[in-house]
Amino acid sequence: MDWEGILANKIVSLEAYKAGKTKAEIARQYNIENVIKFASNESPVPLPDSVKDAILSSLEEGHCYPDYQCLLDAIADVSGVTADQVVLGSGSIDVIEQVFQLVSKQGKNIVVSQYGYASYPLLADKYGLDVKVALSGPSFSHQIDTICEHVDDNTALVVIDSPTNMAGSSLTIDEIKKLLHHVPLCSIVLIDQAYIEFTDACLATQTVKLLSQYPNLILTRTFSKSYGLAGLRVGYGLSNSEAISWIRKIQKPFPVSGVAVDAALAVLSDKQHLASIQEHTKKGKLYLTYEFRNKGFDVFQSEGNFILVDFRSDTSRLITELLKKGFILRKMESYGRPDLVRVSVSSMDNNEDLINEIERLTTTNAEVSR
Ligand SMILES: *Cc1c(COP(=O)(O)O)cnc(C)c1O
Repeated sequence: MDWEGILANKIVSLEAYKAGKTKAEIARQYNIENVIKFASNESPVPLPDSVKDAILSSLEEGHCYPDYQCLLDAIADVSGVTADQVVLGSGSIDVIEQVFQLVSKQGKNIVVSQYGYASYPLLADKYGLDVKVALSGPSFSHQIDTICEHVDDNTALVVIDSPTNMAGSSLTIDEIKKLLHHVPLCSIVLIDQAYIEFTDACLATQTVKLLSQYPNLILTRTFSKSYGLAGLRVGYGLSNSEAISWIRKIQKPFPVSGVAVDAALAVLSDKQHLASIQEHTKKGKLYLTYEFRNKGFDVFQSEGNFILVDFRSDTSRLITELLKKGFILRKMESYGRPDLVRVSVSSMDNNEDLINEIERLTTTNAEVSR
């Protein structure tokens, strides 16, 4: 069948998003039972009973279309906005994609940062937007001045993740203000805050305050990371009510399932759940950072629920040997840096098992090469 003849031109050249390897794939490939994933920045904390109960009772309504008002109100409440400033999506990536769709016009471009989230250029391709890449600064951080220099009359969208998906560096509120000050109102500024709940709570509040001052600002947040609901697929966007109403117009009806809505409501009302993931992440990150540095590996400062580690020349060997033992780590190939490895914070037991295995692999290696 001649797919190339059938498909729209821009689709023929698309690349698919490459998710990390699944546990089942690795278990099958190496014939092992216990596989632990450190690769997708998921929460290692199991859902509390309150949330599981909410999901179960949600099934009572499974024959009806979902009602979003309660969740919109609850998100508005925790974020400090009104419900008409919130839009839900099937994961925040859904809302991010809708923003791309909203602004896609022939001849327009988007500005991204070199080590910004790898999904953005893929979305730009899908919607026929040119991509202008601003070089990143030290430790893969975004450089506001450079980003501003790339904005021109045809820039439809400036999109940046903060903290970043790759290294976890975060823009300060002053840097965000500087960006907004320099980008003209004819370009949308999308700040992807997938990891915002792991940073100082002030930053979340301060960025929301900017919404009333900058009508071209859109923030996206998610229940996938700090709220531990990656499998349920629910995220949201925050902006002024007009921008939100445009996004709602291009959404399909009922983009989020009723089960996901009730799970999100339950994690929002169970304050301890978020606090325990935050606390757990902080401890695990300190532990992993200390242990990796202790073994002589560079670790980059991260505000996310993961750390970026430089295994140097040992990267390929370590990643392969660790996979055989059931530890899935993520090489940063999608960022053009296969020498760097991103390690999501897992449960303390898993973190320790990983460090012990690396200890074993690196000392064995030293003996072999001696
Ligand atoms: C994980 C992630 C997302 C997507 O998360 P959803 O599960 O779709 O909410 C978006 N942006 C960044 C930077 C991420 O790391």
